[in-house]
Amino acid sequence: MTDLKKVRAKGEELRRVIRHHDYLYYVLARPEISDTEYDRLFNKLKQLEEQHPELITPDSPTQRVGGEVAERFAPVEHSSRMLSLDNAATEEEIREFEARMKRILPDAAFNYVCEPKIDGLGVALVYQSGQFVRGATRGDGRVGEDVTHNIRTIRNLPKALRGPLARIEHVEVRGEVFMWKAAFQKLNRDLEEAGEAGFANPRNAAAGSLRQKDSRITAKRPLDIVLYQLAAATPAAPFATHWETLEAFSKSGLPVSPGARLCSDLDVAIAYHREMEKRRDKLGYETDGVVLKVNRLDQRQTLGMTTHHPRWAIAFKFKSQQAQTRIQRIVINVGRTGALTPSAEVDPVEIAGATISRTTLHNADEIARLDVREGDLVLIERAGDVIPHVVERVPDPEHESRPRFEMPARCPVCNGHAYRPEGEVVWRCDNAACPAQLKERLLHFGSRRAMDIEHLGEAVVNQLIDRELVKDFADLYHLEVEALASLERLAQKSATNLYEAIQGSRGRGLTRLLFGLGIRYVGEHAAMLLAQQYGSMEKLLEATEEEIAAIYGIGPRIASGMGQFLAQKENRRVIERLGAVGVRMTEETVAVGEKVLAGKTFVLTGALENFSRDEARTFITRLGGRVTSSVSKKTDYVVAGKDPGSKYDDAQRLGVPVLDEAAFKELISEK
Ligand SMILES: [Zn+2]
Repeated sequence: MTDLKKVRAKGEELRRVIRHHDYLYYVLARPEISDTEYDRLFNKLKQLEEQHPELITPDSPTQRVGGEVAERFAPVEHSSRMLSLDNAATEEEIREFEARMKRILPDAAFNYVCEPKIDGLGVALVYQSGQFVRGATRGDGRVGEDVTHNIRTIRNLPKALRGPLARIEHVEVRGEVFMWKAAFQKLNRDLEEAGEAGFANPRNAAAGSLRQKDSRITAKRPLDIVLYQLAAATPAAPFATHWETLEAFSKSGLPVSPGARLCSDLDVAIAYHREMEKRRDKLGYETDGVVLKVNRLDQRQTLGMTTHHPRWAIAFKFKSQQAQTRIQRIVINVGRTGALTPSAEVDPVEIAGATISRTTLHNADEIARLDVREGDLVLIERAGDVIPHVVERVPDPEHESRPRFEMPARCPVCNGHAYRPEGEVVWRCDNAACPAQLKERLLHFGSRRAMDIEHLGEAVVNQLIDRELVKDFADLYHLEVEALASLERLAQKSATNLYEAIQGSRGRGLTRLLFGLGIRYVGEHAAMLLAQQYGSMEKLLEATEEEIAAIYGIGPRIASGMGQFLAQKENRRVIERLGAVGVRMTEETVAVGEKVLAGKTFVLTGALENFSRDEARTFITRLGGRVTSSVSKKTDYVVAGKDPGSKYDDAQRLGVPVLDEAAFKELISEK
């Protein structure tokens, strides 16, 4: 092959790959590569075409902006092309942008309107005599998709204009549909709770929501819009500058970019860019730069446009928050609560001024999804205060020959059995004596609702464990006053108080002990049910998982939590040692005859003053009653606290007796 042939083949390959990613991005709203990676491919092609202009084909991605009209929405031809903007990455490039304009308008002074470049989906909207009649996506810049029915659902978009624009017969405005970061996070949580897949980022969420066929779904999505261009007006609008136009937008009810600013010259605009870059993570929306636009419309007219971009505007990008590096090792950290979290040690790389040598990998599912292995090349991202994370694996022929990563079967800190509770993504070590977790577990053990050991605060717990005075719960009860008095900031008097509090906690009983042990899923309520059922630790230890699961109100998840906990021999040893120091392992059970609420069904609604939900439930269950979540004809009582919900109305409708807090107290205290 001649060199030119090679170059031509290379160009063709790049065009094919870019078109593929355009399709994924614009049409399916499901990109497979990051923006940085896309830009890299695009720039490669641009460079190649600059060196060999004869190779430029009219359909090259550099000659247009990606996007095809999907089948299901009607095509809409834009009144004029929706152009993309030229980019600048450095101050030098921004000064070059102004210099280019000065070559056309040598005597001009420019002022600029600067707006944050919000990462969303470009749209064009038409208003007829002030009424919203049509909304279309950007599509390929010439033809977009009719998404009128979905755009109507966007809450901050006026369906009828007020003010100066309302009187103009035909108005076309352009802007961006996007999602605030907080709204995006909530949406993802809601989707995940409903068992649906979340979106990778706010832009995908906005695009996916806007391109729904069913606008009822779109209406539930937290979409927002900003408008930044008056593309057409008939008769013509009387504005001389872009700033005036934006002011008219605001007066007409059209939302404009938060933080838009009029800058008197280029230096002021550059300072604005710097300021926004610093505040980037606090802005509440995703943005990768600032758009500078010449303010005077007559100057814009003269400057005109190239085949791809207007000459009077440019996107001044922020520093990339991504970089490529290689994974040296995947390591497992054990958190304070026993979660095994994988992270990657990477070749140190600088991102936006900080050297990164470690990134989180979240969990085993995430590692499988990314399919990253030790030695792989990856793209990592650091945004704001969050720990850097891996965005994607960079294709690499060696990848397949590297061993797939697997979670360890044992805790790297205590060598205890590691497992993944059913239905969870996180792996755990639930050895109650695991050094990585002991501080957290000891604090919980001594907490008010567990063994209720006063004065056993964080400062004390930290010292006890750091000085190896306590290696498991039972060691607490061996501590003498002198040992406690040797702790920093603990006078003799306080040490005596603490000693007495520890010793005094021995008689709390089985319910609190079970809760204090920190067994997965065993909360206060489950602990109470178990203690009531078995009456003693001895009997509980003999019970099988099936037996435990069969207890009313327990179920398989708690039973499996118990099973996993008791399968650790370290945990059985801790229980044994606690018994040996005289911690009470029994509970007085309420005799069957005293279960006066037996067979009665309760529903709780609203906030009670003297009980938490759990406490109210515990009282009812102890007395043999049961609590369900929804009201039916079979419900015996609805207990209604402050601000009761719809369950209160259900009770009224079905004629179920409603108890206020006083009546409820009376009912349970009589017994
Ligand atoms: Zn462990």
